[in-house]
Amino acid sequence: MQPQVPQFGAMPQMAAAPVAAPVAGAVVPGSLPTFKLILVGDGGTGKTTFVKRHLTGEFEKKYIATLGVEVHPLTFHTNHGAICFNCWDTAGQERFGGLRDGYYIQGQCAIIMFDVTSRLTYNNVERWYRDLVRVCENIPIVLCGNKVDVKDRKVKARSITFHRKKNLQYYDISAKSNYNFEKPFLWLARKLIGDNNLYFVAAPALAPPEVAVDPQKAAEYERQIAEAAEVPVPEDESEFS
Ligand code: GDP
Ligand code: MG
Repeated sequence: MQPQVPQFGAMPQMAAAPVAAPVAGAVVPGSLPTFKLILVGDGGTGKTTFVKRHLTGEFEKKYIATLGVEVHPLTFHTNHGAICFNCWDTAGQERFGGLRDGYYIQGQCAIIMFDVTSRLTYNNVERWYRDLVRVCENIPIVLCGNKVDVKDRKVKARSITFHRKKNLQYYDISAKSNYNFEKPFLWLARKLIGDNNLYFVAAPALAPPEVAVDPQKAAEYERQIAEAAEVPVPEDESEFS
């Protein structure tokens, strides 16, 4: 296969951006700047549901049988042109422990997901983070707390501190309602392209929402996240930083 080199020509600030190396089985549509995105987190947190919301990515996904992985090419249109995230999603192997190195190798960005209705999945974020950075030492990572549509939320904003110790970004999301679907991708695109003012110029086609997030609740959660960001990270929890 002819390796496709992203066209960075007209954008000097992109010269230093990591070039997407062709990975076995990777989807390389056209000559878009393309990045391997590693999706990890406990089984049942909603990773597959999340990645399948993006309709063209779902339509163009490729299955890598040797690794038991589905790769969804999620394209977003930005003021710098289109950018593609090749999102790697397991066939459920994470339920049986860690994932093989082949899953992480050449990862260029990542989303770690937990379920805000399950404290255990938040407690396991640290393990997923360690597995990830063992192979991918210095990549932009977003932590996502999924299922915020559920009334009985267990992991409250103020107890979500892990990202602050490691300089990750955090977003509340709800895959089933599309709430904040684009936020993690926008943050990652800004880091990868190296422009904090990058923005999306068109919304991707998403599967219709199956549930709704109460707008009042969403506003309250956003307020709590902002409030929690003002509080110093507790010392006793910082031993790994
Ligand atoms: P994975 O194992 O991390 O890939 O998780 P799945 O995508 O298979 O989802 C596990 C379960 O959580 C399924 O029953 C989904 O319907 C459900 N789920 C996923 N996302 C959401 C969400 O945003 N809200 C709610 N209420 N349920 C969700
Ligand atoms: Mg899955």
